Amino acid sequence: MTKIADYRPSEGHPPIDGPTTRSWCDLTREIRACRRCPLGSQREHAVVYRGGSRPWLVFVGEAPGSQEDREGRPFVGRGGRILDRAIEDAGLGEGEFGILNLLKCRPPKNRFDPGAARACRPFLDRQLQLLQPTCLVPLGRYALRALDPTAPPIMQAAGTARAPTSGPLVFPLIHPAASLRSHAMASRWRSDVLRLRAWVAEQRPQST
Ligand code: SF4
Repeated sequence: MTKIADYRPSEGHPPIDGPTTRSWCDLTREIRACRRCPLGSQREHAVVYRGGSRPWLVFVGEAPGSQEDREGRPFVGRGGRILDRAIEDAGLGEGEFGILNLLKCRPPKNRFDPGAARACRPFLDRQLQLLQPTCLVPLGRYALRALDPTAPPIMQAAGTARAPTSGPLVFPLIHPAASLRSHAMASRWRSDVLRLRAWVAEQRPQST
């Protein structure tokens, strides 16, 4: 099996994070070369994944922001710092989790683009197929709708585990950046993260 270490990162891109398999590496390169929708010609970097090589839990955000676009890594801006703190508070160790987005390229003015999300969806599905997580944490309403289409609106669903008709269990959270909007949203975020902590302790595979 060809290992990631055998590949050199493409110029200007960060090293490839994730599984050390050829199929993952090829998928990452395919995403980085993609021009399937108009966002591909506007980005600085495609933003693919950061996290462990065998995560049992994957956070799924919506789209890269400006910092992510510059660095080519998901959740490295202000929202990312909030998410990183939540990951620590939830008791997740390095290697247990991964982070990715529905959209791999930054939409203009950070406005979520449903058409681009449809074009990009096969990449998300292939990433999840290769990662094989048992649990997903959708961050915000678009991610929730994509992963669990029959879920209630995000403000109702956040903070409670759900079992979609197919695929991994989900534990929705509001988007980390939404916690900056008001004291009420910050407090909602904190209490949902505490619930996430309890769920993580229940769901963690024995071997981790
Ligand atoms: S957003 Fe997705 S489909 Fe569109 S160019 Fe980027 S990688 Fe390709």
